[in-house]
Amino acid sequence: MPSRLAGLALALSLTVAAPLSAAAQAAPATVITGATLVHPSKSGADALEPDATVVIQDERITYAGSGRAAKMPPGSTVIDGRGKFVIPGLVDSHVHFFQSGNLYTRPDVADFNAVVPYAQEVARNKARLDATFRVWLANGVTAVADVGGPFWNYDVRDRAAATAAAPRMVVAGPLISMVDRPQLDLGDPPIIRIESREAARALIARELERDPDFIKVWFIHRPGDDLAAQEAIVKAAGDAAHAAGKRLAVHATELVTAKAALRAGADLLVHSVFDAPVDDEFIALMKKNGALYCPTLYVMGGYALALTGQWQATPEERTGADPEILAAMDDLTEIPPEKIPERVAKAMAAKKPVEPPAVAMANLRKLEDAGIPVVMGTDAGNIGTLHGPSIFREMRMMAEAGLTPLQVLRSATFTAARTMGLEGRTGEIEAGKLGDLVILDANPLEDVGNLAKVHRTIKAGVVYDPADLMKSLEAARE
Ligand SMILES: [Zn+2]
Repeated sequence: MPSRLAGLALALSLTVAAPLSAAAQAAPATVITGATLVHPSKSGADALEPDATVVIQDERITYAGSGRAAKMPPGSTVIDGRGKFVIPGLVDSHVHFFQSGNLYTRPDVADFNAVVPYAQEVARNKARLDATFRVWLANGVTAVADVGGPFWNYDVRDRAAATAAAPRMVVAGPLISMVDRPQLDLGDPPIIRIESREAARALIARELERDPDFIKVWFIHRPGDDLAAQEAIVKAAGDAAHAAGKRLAVHATELVTAKAALRAGADLLVHSVFDAPVDDEFIALMKKNGALYCPTLYVMGGYALALTGQWQATPEERTGADPEILAAMDDLTEIPPEKIPERVAKAMAAKKPVEPPAVAMANLRKLEDAGIPVVMGTDAGNIGTLHGPSIFREMRMMAEAGLTPLQVLRSATFTAARTMGLEGRTGEIEAGKLGDLVILDANPLEDVGNLAKVHRTIKAGVVYDPADLMKSLEAARE
């Protein structure tokens, strides 16, 4: 098998390179004993493997299986896994680091510049990256996909790659958009209006200089827009992306635009179809492209809750969100009325109950049943959707939509490895995989809520205590 040969080649190269990597080789192994492993790629009784041992050394899992057969390297750090459950590290397939989740982060939607200038908000988000990285790890997330932002998104990826206490990261740069968002333009806009195929190709050429993981299109279709002309631009973007070996990610939330996006070559739909039941044609297009489907069930409700004064922190957010952002979530009650945008004031007065997206939830169940690869994603950073603990809101909604806990877990691990371009390297607990794991205090297959009971997060073989990570944030705040 090619992977075995690759493994052999790696082993040989490690031997040859031993003098150079002496420090790494001297790092003690981490051994988890007596734990139940949860295998998201399996099903039925095979998904749970009780009384198992995992050995992680040099950033990789070197053994996973029966405790009796395990060899413990001398000097290993042992974690008692009795009563605990080990899953692969979680992946959020849809986040944005240029946004924080607070009220000030999307002035194109709700303009609070009179309270906190947008430039100050973006500067905060840049300065706070190391803390945001730790928040993700504290919630069991070892990899994220930032599917669109300013050109400095590429610097965020570089920073994450150079930081141990950070999730693995893939990125897209500025969005190729059908509409303008001047309120977000501080000189390096996250959203760029593109009106021709030539302009799309020119922007992609600029992005390719920074080696994007995805080219992202914001496919906004309003009444009166020429759908065929829009599709031609998306196809030009898809063709240019594919010619460069890059994948095309598309925001297309209606059935007609989602189908157009797929015809244009989309590899990842970053949202659900929200407006109509998906049909056989849609499923056939998804299968033809081998496209991934990221439901983002919570994000619109997050906006609605936060911008009507109804947002309340979940228990996971109270302990696992950036305290700076958490504190700002109550600001709406303290902002003087004259500084509240009219639209928001009206919505606050109406305080309509926020309903879950019923059509999208039915679509998720249908697509899961049809064998479409679903990847969990939150759209974190949007107003009301906080980096880190929002994943637990999202995964609960996926379960409410009718997915089993195992299907939810699979979407956030085994399948999500494809978002990261890490298929075969993460997303399962097997020897040879990267050492990205989460140790839970309870069985996630009994209740998806148990995914929030993170005892330890392990990324690239380094073990993190969520409480310590969160404490390190508070220290950074003072
Ligand atoms: Zn998004």
